[in-house]
Amino acid sequence: MTTYDLMKQLAGAEDYDPNSMRVERAREFIRKTLAPVCGNEMLSLKDVFGRVLFEDIVSPLNVPGHDNSAMDGYALRFADINSGGETTLKCIGESFAGHAFHGTVRHGECVRIFTGAVMPEGADTVVMQEHSAKGNDDTVTMAADAVTAAGQNRRFAGEDIQKGAIVFKRGQRIGAPELGVLASLGVAEVAVFRRLRVAFFSTGDELTPIGAPLPEGKIYDSNRYSLYGMLNHLGMEAMDLGAVPDVPERIENTLKTAAQNADVVISIGGVSVGAADFIRSLLDKLGQVLFWKLAMKPGKPLAYGMIGDAHFFGLPGNPVSAMVTFYQFVREALLILQGQAVASPLLLPAVLTAPVKKAAGRVEFQRGVCEARDDGCLVVTPAPEQGSGILSSMAKANCFIVLPLEAGKLAAGETVNVQLFSGLVG
Ligand code: AMP
Ligand code: MG
Repeated sequence: MTTYDLMKQLAGAEDYDPNSMRVERAREFIRKTLAPVCGNEMLSLKDVFGRVLFEDIVSPLNVPGHDNSAMDGYALRFADINSGGETTLKCIGESFAGHAFHGTVRHGECVRIFTGAVMPEGADTVVMQEHSAKGNDDTVTMAADAVTAAGQNRRFAGEDIQKGAIVFKRGQRIGAPELGVLASLGVAEVAVFRRLRVAFFSTGDELTPIGAPLPEGKIYDSNRYSLYGMLNHLGMEAMDLGAVPDVPERIENTLKTAAQNADVVISIGGVSVGAADFIRSLLDKLGQVLFWKLAMKPGKPLAYGMIGDAHFFGLPGNPVSAMVTFYQFVREALLILQGQAVASPLLLPAVLTAPVKKAAGRVEFQRGVCEARDDGCLVVTPAPEQGSGILSSMAKANCFIVLPLEAGKLAAGETVNVQLFSGLVG
């Protein structure tokens, strides 16, 4: 089914109310229209940090490749250890990491061994050097109970990753641990999804570019910079098309250029009902776009649809609304389009340190500062100013306080769910 068909289906559903669109419903609808881009590229390991695997990675080898020691000490045969007393063995050589001992450990013998060194043939156990004492000659005495079972302090070949195992699946984001694991397999190049091309622009006659003096009654264009930051953090190829005045022809041209050159187009401002809001009628002409008044605060208006083959998001102009709407809808969509298997952000319970005002009938994403009390319990303090124009509240906060649709006002001491910015906001 095409996105256009889905849109018709949604618009025709009995309980569909664009004037009070539930957050979950909007998210589900958007998810249904998304299929990852097909493009991919082979890149060397250092260039794939933050990218998404295009193929499953099957291990070409065992990691580690051989049994080796987990400690500095002596490799020996567990059967030689006297239970309940000391054991004296003859040391017949050394095994270093990268320089194995060539020989066999026989009855009554041991080999000095270092962490990561290959276990010599015949030995099955390692005694830590702290539990041993070197004699005057080539003997070593192991303390009583230095080891209590065969195989102690020994790492087994393939105990991390077995040859032939699927190590990572297509859709895995490559972070620092993944880079290390891929290197441990000797993988020098990997196929990753190509980066998503996201064109974005802001709208409004009041917007002044930074660096220029601010005329009376105008404002600096802040949204385009927070959006630039959010897109960069997600590893997108961000195409900044600038600030466009509220002139229909200019907006139309920008939308057309954006849709021809990008996978996703994001506009900011002009999606609410207002005198200068041309976007709505323009979009009816250029594509298939749904306009929703979401049952949420902040960030009520959201436009979503297609212009040609490009996905389109129209974000509200109020700076906090723009950011909240991005995190709650656009972020997940962009990651899916870029091939990533995404999990919903974690919701953590935290106790309110102050009351919050909240009207039932909408989901609220209030800004707050979450911290751990001495007893380890999480507490959250709501930002004093929750207006959708108070952008500094986003910068001061470290989490969203997610208040569900049905909740009314809440008292200090009540437990709420928070969504930490860490990992979400860059
Ligand atoms: P709009 O959604 O275009 O009606 O704008 C709503 C509010 O957000 C107005 O106060 C605008 O001045 C403000 N706004 C819109 N776009 C931006 C922007 N790019 N940067 C800062 N504020 C903006
Ligand atoms: Mg505007």
